Amino acid sequence: MGFYLGIDFGTSGARGMVIDEVGIMQQRVIYPFEMSPRVDLGNIWQMALFSLLEQISGELRREIRAIAINGTSSTVLLCDAVGNPVDAPLLYNDGRGAVVMDRLKSAAPPNHTVLSTTSSLAKLLWMSQQAFFTQAKYFLHQADWLAFLLHGQLGISDYHNALKLGYDVETLQYPQWLDQLQISIHLPKVVTPGSAIAELRPEIAAKYNFPKDCLVCAGTTDSIAAFLASGAESPGEAVTSVGSTLVLKLLSRTRVEDVRYGIYSHRLGDLWLTGGASNTGGAVLRQFFTNTELESLSQEIDTSQASVLDYYPLLKPGERFPINDPNLQPRLEPRPDNPVEFLHGLLESIARIETRGYELLQELGADKLTRVYTAGGGAANDTWTTIRGRYLQVPVMRSMNTEAAYGTALLAMRRMRE
Ligand code: ADP
Repeated sequence: MGFYLGIDFGTSGARGMVIDEVGIMQQRVIYPFEMSPRVDLGNIWQMALFSLLEQISGELRREIRAIAINGTSSTVLLCDAVGNPVDAPLLYNDGRGAVVMDRLKSAAPPNHTVLSTTSSLAKLLWMSQQAFFTQAKYFLHQADWLAFLLHGQLGISDYHNALKLGYDVETLQYPQWLDQLQISIHLPKVVTPGSAIAELRPEIAAKYNFPKDCLVCAGTTDSIAAFLASGAESPGEAVTSVGSTLVLKLLSRTRVEDVRYGIYSHRLGDLWLTGGASNTGGAVLRQFFTNTELESLSQEIDTSQASVLDYYPLLKPGERFPINDPNLQPRLEPRPDNPVEFLHGLLESIARIETRGYELLQELGADKLTRVYTAGGGAANDTWTTIRGRYLQVPVMRSMNTEAAYGTALLAMRRMRE
């Protein structure tokens, strides 16, 4: 029997999941982060990684064939020639790159994915202007560095993490315009997510009792890992995450990009993972109802009847997808006295926005929608699922699994099987 280990570095903690050859979960381990502003992040990540390895039962460890790691997209760091961080990593949401946007705009093509203050490339450009940059040899993403700790090879990334560094995922090379920025650093060599990089370092294999030939594979990002966990794998299959916001991802044979709507595509083997994110979602429901109320009131809704209430639920003005209007006003009127009616209107309105989102992706060239898996807090609401199915006109179901660690374990398993 062989097992596969997926490791997820998320915002609140690190998780590991061991699966068997048919994808059945064998063990799940967790290391929560205690965030305080003064902590040495690199150190914490390293401790978390090895704590996860230690928590896995000895029996499973002995038969783990491959390991892959996912990190949060655009969480990056610089390290020296032997892989030690030269300064604190910059987290996914760090906006320091704002000061280099003009320089970035002068090099990158208009509307490119890197033209965001939090992109990996914006962060690298900011770093290149700091004093510590002279000590740096390699620029890595979080997942690349953590994998390096396991396999010992510096300067390797995957094309999911490298997308926001400017790497061209269509031609599989760094674009020429990147040279204009003249950043003197070793950019990672980019490989296919899940492909084998090297065997686990012998001292780690010996210390933790992993097989000597256990492979460490190229990783991915947390959101792609969560998509992989869902069970979606054919063109036309989609995953909607109904969390605080509404995030749509549709698997397609065609690449779709439209910066006006914040739509871009990740490469997924021969397919493209297209998607967009709306500002509507569960956070607006939270403004009016507790989770318990959401559950009980939803049960009183007659799902066979369409609500006549037409809202655009937003916390504040502004929307990007599927309507591109930075001034779009929240529309939450008229509000009926009956909370069941109000909630019915809200759930139907969000379902209409989701449907419009998938229509837009298809209008821009994505494959025809065939099935929608659902993740996030809203996935538990069967009333809402029925309503969404009525609008989407395709089967809507809960994701097989929603944990990024599971998707990353599948990535290690599937690539290894090829
Ligand atoms: P986040 O995107 O913050 O990770 P989660 O995926 O944990 O969010 O989902 C939380 C959201 O799910 C909340 O905004 C809440 O309104 C929504 N939610 C929780 N329970 C229900 C329910 N029964 N019906 C509809 N929405 C729900």
